[in-house]
Amino acid sequence: MYAPAGVKTHADFPVPATMKAWVLGDPDELTLVDKPVPVPRRAEVLVRIDAVAICATDLEIMHYGSPALIQGGPPFNKNFTPGHEYMGTVAALGPGVDEYAIGQRVTVEIHAGCGQCKRCREGMYTACHNYGLNYGDVDKGHRANGFTTDGGFCEYQVNNINTLVAIPDTMSDEEATLVVTAGTAMYGLTELGGLVAGEAVAVLGPGPIGLLGVAVAKALGASPVILTGTRDNRLQIGRELGADHVVNVRKENAVEAVRRITGGKGVDYVLECSGAADAVNEAGRMVNRGGRICLAAFPHEQVPVDVAHLVRNNIYLYGIRGEGKSATHRAEAFMSQKRFDARRIHTHTFALADLPTAIRYARERIDDAIKVVVKARAAAAHKVAAE
Ligand SMILES: [Zn+2]
Ligand SMILES: [Zn+2]
Repeated sequence: MYAPAGVKTHADFPVPATMKAWVLGDPDELTLVDKPVPVPRRAEVLVRIDAVAICATDLEIMHYGSPALIQGGPPFNKNFTPGHEYMGTVAALGPGVDEYAIGQRVTVEIHAGCGQCKRCREGMYTACHNYGLNYGDVDKGHRANGFTTDGGFCEYQVNNINTLVAIPDTMSDEEATLVVTAGTAMYGLTELGGLVAGEAVAVLGPGPIGLLGVAVAKALGASPVILTGTRDNRLQIGRELGADHVVNVRKENAVEAVRRITGGKGVDYVLECSGAADAVNEAGRMVNRGGRICLAAFPHEQVPVDVAHLVRNNIYLYGIRGEGKSATHRAEAFMSQKRFDARRIHTHTFALADLPTAIRYARERIDDAIKVVVKARAAAAHKVAAE
C-alpha cells in the first residue's frame, strides 16, 4: 500500500503503490506501463485523475517533442507521461498541506513556476525563467505537468497546490477538464487589457481555445464578438457560445467581413487562435489603430509579417503562453456560474486504456471530434456518448 513518510492519506481513499501510466517512447509511440504512484512533497498533493482531455499541444509534443522539455531535452524514451488537461480527486496531502482536503474534487492548471524568478514574482509563472529546470542538481522547483514533468495520461499525479482549482459538484468531470482551456482564453483577454465590455473582438480559428475565447469574451461583455473559421459546424458552435457574427473564410474575405460588420472601424482586439500562416497580417488589418492582437497559436514555418503596418498604426502584439495570473480561477468562476456552456466543445469520451484510439479521434477529427476526454474509470473499449 501507499504510505510514504510525512504524507497524509485517508482510509476512505486507499491509494495503491503502483498505477497504470502511458509513456512516450519514440515519436507518436505510447505504451501502457506500471509506474510507482508519485509522492507529494511540501505544498503538493496527490490527485487521483478522474478525467483528462486531449489537447492539440499533446499531439504536438508526442510528434515533435517541443514544447515539452524533459531533463533538459526532448521527451522521447525518457519514461515520460504526457497529458496536461486533467481533473480529479485529492487523494493524499504532502507535508503541511491544509489548503485542500482528501476527497475534494479539483481541476488543474499546468504551470507551477519556480516562485523565485522575476516573472513568477510578477504572476507570469507560465513564462517562468526556470522552465524545465527541475531535475538533478538544477532543481529550481518548476513543474509543468505534461510538459516538463509527468502529466495526466495515468491514474495519479502530484500537483503543486498553486495549480489546483476547486470545482463544485454540479460540474461534471468532462466539463472540469475544459477549465484550463477557458483559462487560456481568459489569460489572453486579460493580457490584452481585460476590460473588454463594449469593445469589438474578433476571434480567429474555432478550435477549443478559439471557441472558448468567444465564450469568455462574450461573458466579459465584449460586443460584437466575431468568429472566423473554415468549417460551418464549428462556427455554429461558436454562435451557440455567444458569437454575434461568424465568418466562413472560404466564402468571404475575413478582413473585409470584419470591416463590414464593424462599420469600417475594425475591431479593438483580435484573439488569434488559428495558427494560419497569414493570420498576423490579417489580424493587423482587422484591428483598428492602437488595437491589440493576442497570439495564442502559431504556424510551424516562419512567416513574413508586415511590420510597417503594425508600427504605423500603433498595433500591439502579445504572445501568450498557457494560463498565467490565475486565469483558470476566473474561468472556473464563469463556468460554475453557468455564464457559458463549455460542454458544447466536448464531443467524445474514451477509457484510459483506449488512449491511442482517443488520440486518433482528436488528431483526425473523426466524427467531428473537438475535445476528446479519457477517463480512468470509464467502461473500456467503447466511446461514451457525449453529454
Ligand atoms: Zn492544452
Ligand atoms: Zn519562475
